[in-house]
Amino acid sequence: MTKAKAIIIPVTPFQQNCTLLWCDATKRAVVIDPGGDLPDVERSIARAGVAVDKIWLTHGHVDHVGGAAALKASLEVSIEGPHRGDLFLLQHVAESARAFGISDVSNVTPDRWLEDGDQVQVGELTFEVLHCPGHSPGSVVFFSPTQRLAIVGDVLFAGSVGRTDLPGGDQRQLFESIRDKLLPLGDDVAIISGHGPTSTIGQERATNPFLQ
Ligand SMILES: [Zn+2]
Ligand SMILES: [Zn+2]
Repeated sequence: MTKAKAIIIPVTPFQQNCTLLWCDATKRAVVIDPGGDLPDVERSIARAGVAVDKIWLTHGHVDHVGGAAALKASLEVSIEGPHRGDLFLLQHVAESARAFGISDVSNVTPDRWLEDGDQVQVGELTFEVLHCPGHSPGSVVFFSPTQRLAIVGDVLFAGSVGRTDLPGGDQRQLFESIRDKLLPLGDDVAIISGHGPTSTIGQERATNPFLQ
């Protein structure tokens, strides 16, 4: 069976988990959430020996998208995601980067907005799109039923959940997204979060203090 492989590259002062994800059968890859530190990302691509087809974005925060426009230009690939709800964030990426003292960052225009139930493709692998608002209005999760793998952005972390005090955040929505979209995926599903270590749905269901 075709296998997904992934390398996590922590980028930016926020230690955001940029993920290089690829189909091992075809060596076709996507870069998920290239927040910055593009030389590190490009080194990982070269070391893995893969060809990048797309950039996928989980949501519009600067630590996740700060390098997206530059990487799109240098790799000549398209950007898929997030949900249109994060348009207001993507139009102000440069501004919010400056607020954190980061320059040379551009606003982001996705080539394809994603909706709940959409599918995205890398090589022979198909990921389902789950719209999971709460941390931001347009947050999406990428889930592969066959690989038992979900890329969850800042919706859910090992031992924590996404903050909801930023513009467009909504705590009730966040918990609904986790309860109705993520927990039903199954305890065996591995998760790659936007920050911190990897985990599984089962581990978080059992031990995450915010979900008890
Ligand atoms: Zn975020
Ligand atoms: Zn983040």
